[in-house]
Amino acid sequence: MDTLILIVEDEPDLVASLEYNLQREGYGTRAALTGTRALELVRRDPKPDLVLLDLMLPDMSGKDVCRQIRADAATRDIPVIMVTARTEEVDRIIGLELGADDYVTKPYSIRELMLRVKAVLRRRGAPPDDDATGPRVFGRLRIDEDAHRVWVDDALIELTALEFRLLSMLLARRGRVQTRDVLLEEVWGVRGDSNTRTVDTHVKRLRQKLGAAGSYVETIRGVGYRFTDRP
Ligand code: CA
Repeated sequence: MDTLILIVEDEPDLVASLEYNLQREGYGTRAALTGTRALELVRRDPKPDLVLLDLMLPDMSGKDVCRQIRADAATRDIPVIMVTARTEEVDRIIGLELGADDYVTKPYSIRELMLRVKAVLRRRGAPPDDDATGPRVFGRLRIDEDAHRVWVDDALIELTALEFRLLSMLLARRGRVQTRDVLLEEVWGVRGDSNTRTVDTHVKRLRQKLGAAGSYVETIRGVGYRFTDRP
């Protein structure tokens, strides 16, 4: 089945160019010119495998579209790449508030965009590090990899798709130090990027959300992070 990409963009010329280029790469596409239409299409079967979401839309903010996608259990695991003209918003877009998986800033090159799309789809399609199915228990933490759900002391914790991936990877490699570069590459799909502060921000946020289980994620000064060996 075709990988389906939902393009959310109100400039028709840009939509046409994106459709052309994505289809040439073998992707199926759908397009929404408004946020309202995007929220309709994202819930319609077959659901998109990825959403390319412009921040500035005529009827509502792309941020609100992203929030609503993340708030609905039927769509929360669909990866979102935000398109923004403003680099200063990037930190907030990725993860902290909105849970977008990645971003590109306008004006972007089609080539850059295609690389981002491929990286996000690859991360999503990557096999888990072990083949355990059903919830796994680790101390006060319970993780259901299939359902993308996490509980601490039986309380369900709301994690973004990115935070879940981060936790899942740290847990799978527990007891082993993971450098910021490795985390950037494997969780974010970014290679050779020096912006390791992104990792620190997300680990901090993840710890806060995990509450009593937050201490399982240890900081190894000057190196990176390690999930504790035993609870
Ligand atoms: Ca726009």
